[in-house]
Amino acid sequence: MLISLIVPCYNEEGSLPILYEALCNVRREDTSPDRSYEFVFVNDGSRDKTAQIIKSLAESDKSVKYVFFSRNFGKEAAMYAGMQKAKGDYIAILDADMQDPPSLIPQMIQDLDTGDYDIIAARRVTRKGEPMIRSFFARRFYKMINRMCDIEIADGARDFRLMRREVVDAILSLTERQRFSKGIFAWVGFRTKWVEHENVERAAGETKWSFWKLFRYAVDGIVSFTTAPLRLATYSGFFFAFLGFAYLVYYFIRAIILRIYNEVPGYPSLLCFILFIGGLILMCLGILGEYIGRTYIESKGRPIYIPSEESKD
Ligand code: UDP
Ligand code: MG
Repeated sequence: MLISLIVPCYNEEGSLPILYEALCNVRREDTSPDRSYEFVFVNDGSRDKTAQIIKSLAESDKSVKYVFFSRNFGKEAAMYAGMQKAKGDYIAILDADMQDPPSLIPQMIQDLDTGDYDIIAARRVTRKGEPMIRSFFARRFYKMINRMCDIEIADGARDFRLMRREVVDAILSLTERQRFSKGIFAWVGFRTKWVEHENVERAAGETKWSFWKLFRYAVDGIVSFTTAPLRLATYSGFFFAFLGFAYLVYYFIRAIILRIYNEVPGYPSLLCFILFIGGLILMCLGILGEYIGRTYIESKGRPIYIPSEESKD
């Protein structure tokens, strides 16, 4: 039985040697004779020495496979490429920076061997060492997306998971370009066991995610997995149309029956309404735009990534 470990790498020259050491440890400590390992490194257009490091690893170790991208396509694309490349019966994805502890892998393999589960997924129970504001918005995001979508996305869920071949084939069959893996993993279903671990800080280098990159990612996640925001636009449209009509009736009655004519003092309220509704219209247009933009990008049918170099099998 073959076990594939996929590692997306973007500027990870500092952490790669440490990670490779840890992966070798996992392999060494596995005493089962019918299990072999392959390591699939995906170099997502790194600008540092990541490519050279991967190549030299591949030269000295037959089980190191790799895919290089022609530029940076993002972690989602890198995971997709890794899953395409991986040949294993069990397939795991883990970060290069040791934040997904490789030491959990042997236990995950055992859990999958029991046959009770198809996916063993890791989850952070703490966000220790992370900026407070980031944790706060991350929590809000999970609350919100779970309320709006039919699928359940666990808070603190990482992309770190060990899956059966069937699960990976299902994930590969979703070929959308705007990939939001946390949603895709949940969407394909299957029986999942969660293993929990503490947050681990990066071994070397720094995170590739700025606050705004994460914010974009959150919007991507919501827009790819639910059309609920469109409904929000419709509902608020109805609400304000009704309010406007009620307002109209009110003034009509005041003028015709009670004979109170409004003078200039109505001006502030009028301004408020115009501004408010104007803002609302812009918001709804923005929501529409997000979806139309997405349709446009998907309709071009471009590949998810462009490989520039690949290891032979
Ligand atoms: N990564 C990637 N492409 C990118 C950004 C990140 O392949 O454009 C990889 C990165 O090398 C690491 C993993 O994705 O192995 C997670 O990235 P990072 O540690 O920066 O994210 P964080 O752990 O802070 O969420
Ligand atoms: Mg990390």
